[in-house]
Amino acid sequence: MGAIDFLIVDDDPAVCMLIKRVAKGCGFISEAATDADEFRKLYASHVFGAIAVDLSMPDVDGIEILRFLARSDCKSNILIISGFDRRVVDTAWRLGQQLGLRMTGIISKPIDLQTLRSILRQSVAARKGFEPRALPELTTAHIIEAITRGDITLAYQPKIDVASGRLVGVEALARWNHPQLGPIPPAVFIPLAEKLHIIDRLTDHVLEIALHQWGLWHAAGTTIDIAVNISALSLGRLDFPDLVLAKCEKFQVPQHHLIIELTEGATQQAVQLLDTMTRFRLKGVKISLDDYGTGYASLAQLQQLPFNEIKIDRRFVDDADRSVDSRAIVKSVIDLAHNLGLTATAEGVETQSVLTLLAELSCDQAQGYLIAKPMPAADLMGWIEQRRQTSAA
Ligand code: C2E
Ligand code: CA
Ligand code: CA
Repeated sequence: MGAIDFLIVDDDPAVCMLIKRVAKGCGFISEAATDADEFRKLYASHVFGAIAVDLSMPDVDGIEILRFLARSDCKSNILIISGFDRRVVDTAWRLGQQLGLRMTGIISKPIDLQTLRSILRQSVAARKGFEPRALPELTTAHIIEAITRGDITLAYQPKIDVASGRLVGVEALARWNHPQLGPIPPAVFIPLAEKLHIIDRLTDHVLEIALHQWGLWHAAGTTIDIAVNISALSLGRLDFPDLVLAKCEKFQVPQHHLIIELTEGATQQAVQLLDTMTRFRLKGVKISLDDYGTGYASLAQLQQLPFNEIKIDRRFVDDADRSVDSRAIVKSVIDLAHNLGLTATAEGVETQSVLTLLAELSCDQAQGYLIAKPMPAADLMGWIEQRRQTSAA
């Protein structure tokens, strides 16, 4: 078994070469297959962190490959390479998700080098060194040790009001810096903590750090909202609202400054959640529907569950200034949010032209690398100051 990070499956050798070269520039070792046979041979002999699949090839189509990967219980991150229009790609993406594959990125042809680099860094780096067989098995003990030792910390990403540019809050994102293995992405350790049934410990830890930090900023004169991501498993516990409210009291955080972010997938058992969510709302805690557009939240669920905010997934936001489809989706989610009396927030805002479009579409709030990357707590004050100076200038 070789240490190869990434497999490219595309019948066009020039595309394979290009992706390989860019992957190498990002520090990844890759292999390419230009037909189904070559692909099967390579797939059988290595464990890849990520696999990029071209949707259309002469002897086999991308969908067949996705089915094959799903049958073999593939744990790699999957990227789709395609020159088709967004709708075809989206259908393939949903199919991959339904088959249980880890769909993580889209490489659109013609390939834009800058975008390709960022996609590879996200999708390949997230799995590099974390293939099931190559990874020193991370256990419950590892995660508990990381929590107790303080290796799991939080980074905070600012969220602004689109119309005024004013900072309205931050989203707390978990970070694990392992002393030997280096940074382990949340996309790896959160699902693991869920699987090992220790997600409640982690949720507890994250809430403690976030609420404590809120108090420090507040004391320093900055009073903002703080959003934490909560796994559906933690939310399913009936005593969860009491636990959260007790923590707000312990750290003297007024409940209305806390936002609980729930992914769309988590809303599947809507009825059980109704109880917990209603109790949060009665106490003033805000609830946000995260990654909207990637799951299957029905309009009925949106109406029944007491959300305050919809976060439009970055897949649609990212190219809303270029793709007519994405723009239509973003616009309709913003309108839907407003018609239901909810705040519309766009995540993954990376360019000024997307931010300008969001302002035109009356989107309420925005978050993304253009505004700021997630940062350590200590950097937030400096960021606020710098922004104040730039806007005054
Ligand atoms: P999420 O809640 O959707 O968080 C946003 C993710 O998008 C973060 O990734 C953030 O770093 C990234 N991001 C923000 N702006 C941009 C942008 O402009 N462009 C791009 N390409 N990416 C952007 P991160 O920190 O790796 O977190 C991944 C996911 O892990 C989160 O997705 C969330 O679902 C989960 N997660 C993180 N922390 C926690 C936690 O404490 N508890 C739970 N249950 N889940 C967490
Ligand atoms: Ca989130
Ligand atoms: Ca999100």
